Order: sequence, then C-alpha cells, then structure tokens
Amino acid sequence: MISKMKNLIFIGPPGAGKGTQAEMICKNYGIRQLSTGDILRSNVSKMSPLGISAKSFMDEGKLVPDDLIINMIKEEITKPEYSNGILFDGFPRTIPQAVALDNLMDEFGFKLVRVLLLEVPDAEIISRLSGRRSCRTCNRTFHILHNPPPDPKECDRGVCDIYQREDDKEETILKRLSVYHNQTSPLIEYYENKGKLAHINGLGTLEEVYKLIEKEIE
Ligand code: AMP
Repeated sequence: MISKMKNLIFIGPPGAGKGTQAEMICKNYGIRQLSTGDILRSNVSKMSPLGISAKSFMDEGKLVPDDLIINMIKEEITKPEYSNGILFDGFPRTIPQAVALDNLMDEFGFKLVRVLLLEVPDAEIISRLSGRRSCRTCNRTFHILHNPPPDPKECDRGVCDIYQREDDKEETILKRLSVYHNQTSPLIEYYENKGKLAHINGLGTLEEVYKLIEKEIE
C-alpha cells in the first residue's frame, strides 16, 4: 500500500543524473525508487507482453503509450516494498500520466512531498549520455571518462554486465531530448501551479547536487 510519508517525483531530461541521485536518496530516507525505465527494460529482456509492446518505442527514443505506463504503475505501487514511500524516477512524463497519478494519490491517501526538477543543459546531456554505460545486472550507470565501469568480476553486486543502451546512441539522444522538451516539460508548470516544484541545479558534483536535493526534502 502506498505510504502517506515521503513520496517524491524526479523530473529532468534523460541523463540529468536522476537514477544516481535516486539511489542515494532512497538509501538515506528508507524509501524505494520506482524507475519506469528500469521496469520497462526488465520487461523487454524477459520478452513479456509489456516488453514486446514497449521495445520499439524505447529503441527509437519515443515515449511508451500512456495507457501501458499507467497500468504498469497501478500494478507496481501496490507492492509491499513501496510501503515506506516512493521516489518516482521517470514517471510521470506526460500530463495524462500526471493526472492519473493524482487520481491514484486520492484513491490511496498518498501524500506528495516534492517534485524535484533536475536541470541540466542539452549540450551537457549529450556529452553525458553518449559516454554512459549501464549494467544489466545491477542497473547502475557509469561514464566511460568520468566514472568508468568496474572490472566485471570486481563488481560488489555480482558480475557486472556492461553495455551501451540502444537509446544512448547519439541520434536517439537528440530524439529523447526533443521528446522531453515537447511532452515532459509541460509538467514543470503543472507542478509549479500545485506549489510542489523544486528547481535543482544538476551541474555540480554528485555530492553538491545531493545537498541541494536534501535541502528541499528535509
Ligand atoms: P529512462 O530510463 O527513464 O530514460 O526510460 C527509457 C525509455 O523508456 C524512455 O525513452 C521511454 O521510451 C520509456 N519510458 C520510461 N518511462 C516512461 C514513461 N513514464 N512514459 C513513457 N515512456 C517511458
């Protein structure tokens, strides 16, 4: 059941660092990250019906249709591991998804604490994402220059299986950025009007950005 405690939403362009920051926040606040991208990728690798429907949209950098995402979220959030609170990472990404989340909040007595908008300019995103590498085993992300992946056998979470996501190739990055500006950025005004939005400068070190986030959710 959804908790009435710390529920947060992360908004920001792909590659803004949401996943990495989410991991730190969840560890320190005892809440659970819900990354729609991770759940979709796991469905794609299992070739579940959802994965099969979502794969082509994801490979092209397009959004997966709202009805698929909303059904997925409805199923996910009733799991007991989210009972202390949820950090939504990568959801909502459209106004219909945000409205669906509002309805779920009403239904479950869910309290939204803050919407964290992680701001990073496009040029920086392109440099970050084209060097990004991901791990199929532990879902962590690395950067070939700034945070190189571990030797596969030395990963502290099992054997790392490092790869470059199909949608981290340059042409798809540009497409994903334009999808963000067109379809997701209207959420900024949506949550600003609700008095929930916090602007976070995503350009500092991991620790600097984390401190800014902490200030907003304490
Ligand atoms: P991410 O890892 O969050 O960048 O997500 C990777 C891809 O999964 C996106 O480019 C979309 O194709 C899809 N996706 C993830 N979350 C959503 C969402 N909330 N709505 C629609 N598509 C999504």
